[in-house]
Amino acid sequence: IFKEDVVFFQIEKTPTNHECPKLGCDRGFKSDTPVQIVVADEEEHSFLLQEEALERLLLKEEVQDLNVVVVSVAGAFRKGKSFLLDFMLRYMYTQSESWVGTEEEPLTGFSWRGGCERETTGILAWSEVFVVKKPDGCKVAVLLIDTQGAFDSQSTIKDCATLFALSTMTSSVMVYNLSQNVQEDDLQHLQLFTEYGRLAMEEVYEKPFQSLMFLIRDWSYPYEHPYGLEGGRSFLEKRLQVKQNQHEELQNVRKHIHSCFSNIGCFLLPHPGLKVATNPHFDGRLRDIDDEFKKELVNLVPTLLSPENLVEKEIGGVKITCRDLLQYFKAYMKIYQGEELPHPKSMLQATAEANNLAAVAGAKGLYNKGMEQVCGGDKPYINPAELERRHLEFRQASVKHFRGIKKMGGEEFCRRYQEQLEAELDQTYSNFSKHNDGKNIFFAARTPATLFAVMFV
Ligand code: GDP
Ligand code: MG
Repeated sequence: IFKEDVVFFQIEKTPTNHECPKLGCDRGFKSDTPVQIVVADEEEHSFLLQEEALERLLLKEEVQDLNVVVVSVAGAFRKGKSFLLDFMLRYMYTQSESWVGTEEEPLTGFSWRGGCERETTGILAWSEVFVVKKPDGCKVAVLLIDTQGAFDSQSTIKDCATLFALSTMTSSVMVYNLSQNVQEDDLQHLQLFTEYGRLAMEEVYEKPFQSLMFLIRDWSYPYEHPYGLEGGRSFLEKRLQVKQNQHEELQNVRKHIHSCFSNIGCFLLPHPGLKVATNPHFDGRLRDIDDEFKKELVNLVPTLLSPENLVEKEIGGVKITCRDLLQYFKAYMKIYQGEELPHPKSMLQATAEANNLAAVAGAKGLYNKGMEQVCGGDKPYINPAELERRHLEFRQASVKHFRGIKKMGGEEFCRRYQEQLEAELDQTYSNFSKHNDGKNIFFAARTPATLFAVMFV
């Protein structure tokens, strides 16, 4: 898949009676719109499946029994997802080489309705499920999906993990839309939601998900890795490389991503130009878009959507129909709404926990080493008052050491680990102290049983 050749094809469009004077009627948009299929309930930190809306899409007579291709564009807000999806719609609706449109034609589709421009977390699908004939003559149904949410705070990371997991599980091609580069946290978020997806799947599949396409917008290093699929491949190879001297965490994230998807690709898109990025009156017409961008766009869209590149959705190695997909959506949603699944911790929280625990371990080690030298197994009995004095000295040094280590999670969070450290040190002291008492023959002799033992040794 992800071949770059451009092939044109026939779309079997179902006739609609509705007329919409303003919107691309010549493209056959008619009454088609984005449809919200998963809605976020921000107060409840949960998601709702719009079952009826999804049924209307997937149970249409002409598509319900066809194998389904689900292409999802996923990522944060305001990163050009709708803009791209609108071009994908042009490709799907048009039946000629001129799919990309004329210079003066405004863009319509995912971004044409005010309501859909709001930054709502959730999953949108295009109301038209396209029927496409593949080169082998089989008809498939193509569903275009827009998944968006923010990974900008602990609670949104947690919520969005579910949303993106759901989208990954139900799509055959996941286009992970990123701005400028692939950052380490983009990979961590990907790890989090794929892990969360895997958790919800009943059986353990070798590679649970199908195709992942990193789409890098505003790529600005074409001299290092050229725009397009080939540049993307070399860039990604470098970015996802597992290296010997790499930190374990970085290695793990890479291995994990490789283990989840059957296919991983990357496409580098240039900046579309200042009019697109900054002009509030920009309406998507080609005239205002940089040539370089258009040149790559006409490769990208067929790479994802041309008939021979379409990837049918499989679950456990079996192709599924639109009707099946509906059932999977419902089943996955139920799992996430249930209580059995652990809530994934945010990366930040997990990292903060890990480095606080490491600091506690280091500080305890310091204390133990000191105390061993004073009253270890091979050391003679020492005066309890002296032992206590040394304990307090080492305890203070240990806590100081803990506080001196740079940790994440903030003061209050770290305070909890300091308290844990202090409690553990006091417990250790009490053990050392008992052990010391045991070494005192006079003290030991005071109890009748040991007196007896001492007399007969
Ligand atoms: P979405 O929230 O991810 O769906 O983003 P939109 O498609 O609504 O685009 C958000 C803004 O970014 C709009 O003003 C677009 O004109 C602009 N835009 C679209 N594509 C790109 C791109 O590749 N790079 C930049 N810098 N801006 C873009
Ligand atoms: Mg959008």
